Amino acid sequence: MYPISEMRMGPLKSEEPSNWDSNLDCYCYRKLSAEEVDIKMQGRATEAILFASADLGIAPPAVVWLRPSAPVDAASALGRTAYNWADECHAEFARVRVRIPAGYTPWPEKLREVWILSEVSRFPALEFVAVHEVRHVWQKAKDISLFGDVCRAEGDAYPYSYGALRRYLMAKGHLTQELELEIATLRESACRAYAQAWPNGKFATLEN
Ligand SMILES: [Zn+2]
Repeated sequence: MYPISEMRMGPLKSEEPSNWDSNLDCYCYRKLSAEEVDIKMQGRATEAILFASADLGIAPPAVVWLRPSAPVDAASALGRTAYNWADECHAEFARVRVRIPAGYTPWPEKLREVWILSEVSRFPALEFVAVHEVRHVWQKAKDISLFGDVCRAEGDAYPYSYGALRRYLMAKGHLTQELELEIATLRESACRAYAQAWPNGKFATLEN
């Protein structure tokens, strides 16, 4: 998931977050152990991932939970070399080029994972992130060039995940009018932000 409302590499100088490594132009994260993450959140994410995986006809990916990390801690594990997507395979730390707004699907093909920030606990934001990232896992397996093209990847993943979230909540008997309205509103604002970032892009779910 890319923060489509702020499509730029790195933060503005005036708002550098504490996990931004300004020497390497990367954001730093630590991968958490299962004991560090609320058990109910783990259950909610797993359920949403199972739903989206079945929906897309793929094996469910593993979840890795993340927390922003101080650049110095990430550097002690990963070194001070320039960004390399192979760093995403490290067991404990990760450095990535974009701010992770809520979730992320790592680049290396051998990592069949979705990454979720442990601070994303709100219902149904956590469920949304889970199904969104599963869509990226599906893209990665179907067509790596689609996955690698942010404009196409997000143009597909956002509309897919709002639709899938709605169907998921309905299947669970949790879809209220308020939630339906919230999802529709978020979809509209994502659509507008997307059109600004990629005026020629297509905000529509691809055929499976
Ligand atoms: Zn995405």
